[in-house]
Amino acid sequence: MTMQLQPEQRAQELRQVLDRYSYEYHVLDQPSVDDGVYDSLFGELKKIEAAHPELVTPDSPTQRVGNELLGGFKKIEHSSRMLSLNDVFDKGEVEAWVVRMDKLLPGRTHEYFADIKMDGLACALIYQDGVLVRAITRGDSFIGEDVTANVRTIKNVPLRLRDEPSFEQFLVGRTEIRGEIVMLKKDFIKLNEKRIAANEPPFANPRNLAAGTIRQLDPKLVAARPLHFRAYDLQRDDPREVPTNMFAYQAITALGLNRNMQASVFINVSDVMAFVNSWDKKRNDLPFNTDGLVIKVNDRAQFAELGVVGKQPRAAVAYKYAAEQATTVVKDIVISIGRTGAATPVAVFDPVVVAGTTVQHASLHNADEIARKDIRVGDTVIIFKAGDIIPQVESVVLELRPKTARSFNYEKVLAEQYPELTFERPEGEAVYRVKGATGPLLLKKALEHFASKGALDIDTLGEKNVVALVDAGLVKDLADIYLLTKEQLLELDRFAEISASKLIAAIADKKQPQLDKFIYGLGIRHVGAQTAVDLARIFHSIHALQKATLEALLAIDGVGSVVAESIIAWFADPDNEALLDKFQEVGVAPRYVHVSGKLTGVNIVITGSLETMSRDEAANKIRVLGGTFQTSVAKDTTYLVSGGKVGASKLKKAQEYGTKIIDEQELNSLLQ
Ligand code: NAD
Repeated sequence: MTMQLQPEQRAQELRQVLDRYSYEYHVLDQPSVDDGVYDSLFGELKKIEAAHPELVTPDSPTQRVGNELLGGFKKIEHSSRMLSLNDVFDKGEVEAWVVRMDKLLPGRTHEYFADIKMDGLACALIYQDGVLVRAITRGDSFIGEDVTANVRTIKNVPLRLRDEPSFEQFLVGRTEIRGEIVMLKKDFIKLNEKRIAANEPPFANPRNLAAGTIRQLDPKLVAARPLHFRAYDLQRDDPREVPTNMFAYQAITALGLNRNMQASVFINVSDVMAFVNSWDKKRNDLPFNTDGLVIKVNDRAQFAELGVVGKQPRAAVAYKYAAEQATTVVKDIVISIGRTGAATPVAVFDPVVVAGTTVQHASLHNADEIARKDIRVGDTVIIFKAGDIIPQVESVVLELRPKTARSFNYEKVLAEQYPELTFERPEGEAVYRVKGATGPLLLKKALEHFASKGALDIDTLGEKNVVALVDAGLVKDLADIYLLTKEQLLELDRFAEISASKLIAAIADKKQPQLDKFIYGLGIRHVGAQTAVDLARIFHSIHALQKATLEALLAIDGVGSVVAESIIAWFADPDNEALLDKFQEVGVAPRYVHVSGKLTGVNIVITGSLETMSRDEAANKIRVLGGTFQTSVAKDTTYLVSGGKVGASKLKKAQEYGTKIIDEQELNSLLQ
């Protein structure tokens, strides 16, 4: 059973949590969560508000910049708002941004201006006739704090602008230069080394240290902490004096301020994206931290014309690189049975992008781990990738726990999901295991099934050979059979020249199995031959099936929650993931064959036993002709084949759904 959240309540709770995070970040300079977590929850709130505009409140974090101002500093109104930026996360979102602008300014071309986004705090420097008179933080975007005395201690902030030919006009009247105050990575490391040596706790990160420093009331303390200013904007009372963003950057350099020299102008989105991608790799080498790039319309008249929506200019976006952490909601906890018979709980999520890839499940390891982290179905959780590969649940955002959140009852879920198995939890272990099962025993069963007639149908790989291969240690997983050599087989008592060659050839013959047979052969619990056919028909490759969401699986006729959960659990098991990789490495390439024939669209149920063939044979023949073999009569059943007497309940259903009842002879003529 998966859970749904109510938008109104969810929005309200998200606002509360975001407000707290924002207060910790902007006011206390002590964030308690990663920016990725904040951005993820913020994105979720934005989505809810976009779908339900009536839920937007004026004090929503989506409508406000920064946070309330601290006491201690004089408050000063900005000459124009210091806005925030709309986030985009991939090329598609950049393109959508361009489409939105094109709608407002049809037929106009734009040049794009892109610069690295510095992770610090925004500050406006006001120069009057070339002399620094004031420095103001961004504050709540309308009003900031007067931090002039502190900013004067920053060594690369000129107290007087340089007089450079062709830019001398900016030394007359009011020139406002906006930029970011950062602490360079090398300075941050040095400072922390000193603190550790003096037995003081190290600072958490350069951004919050810079923000905390600039809002110290004692300028001497500020001077002792090396801060650095990089400009990204220049404004004049008459905007026509600064025609483009690139011109503003040229002026900034000429006037004696630092800025990112990499900033560039592009004429199309592909070139912008090439710039974005090149910096994704190189950004760690920058002297300061960055979380992305800023992309703006270069022409400032066009920029102004596009205007502002909420707290963001329409003509600019912040491209955010893949976050290391993100949040999502646990929709379900299912159990996967591993190679050794261990029953591992797996959390199933709303798909979420973490460190650049989409994640939709993570192993929760064992009962103790679930209890320790107190993870419940319905919880909002923080996901990260351990060693950059394996997704893990870091913790639960407790404030976002709905009242309906369900604790995980291991034994109940085991009984529901695997009614045919019994489990035990050995003394002192956190893991439940299939009772009496050992790794080799399970492998023998799995391999026998994989090689069986309904699956890959590998000639001569029956029970006895399977036992011999596993006991000899030649096969440790299903894919190993493709690595067997004749020489290895000849060392076993069971094989002679001919039988060894025969088996090797039979295995090699199944290197490109039919996709549905392969899926069936994997032995995913509750995935029978027909479900395998349905899955193959819908997903066309193992890779696509591996990425299928719970919703996509549930949408398939005949796939209910037990089957869907079992599929998700199987693919979520890292051992199975490794097995699929290995199949690929050894050259096994299942192929999807589109079957269509005279029975395409025809669904058949067989009841009782047939005289001329077994049910399995009949099912196979039906599938070969494109038909579907169903196990019980449903709304879409075309024929009910009666082998002998039809039971009353089946008959009733067939009558109710208008299913035609036929006998074996009629079936045989359909299969001709
Ligand atoms: P933003 O992401 O909207 O970006 C706007 C800011 O980017 C500008 O004000 C400017 O200061 C800065 N900037 C840096 N380089 C720039 C450049 N080259 N050109 C133009 N502008 C540049 O900033 P925001 O409104 O401060 O956004 C909130 C940020 O704070 C997010 O990254 C969010 O993750 C973080 N945050 C984190 C927490 C937390 O708890 N971890 C809480 C609140 C906010």
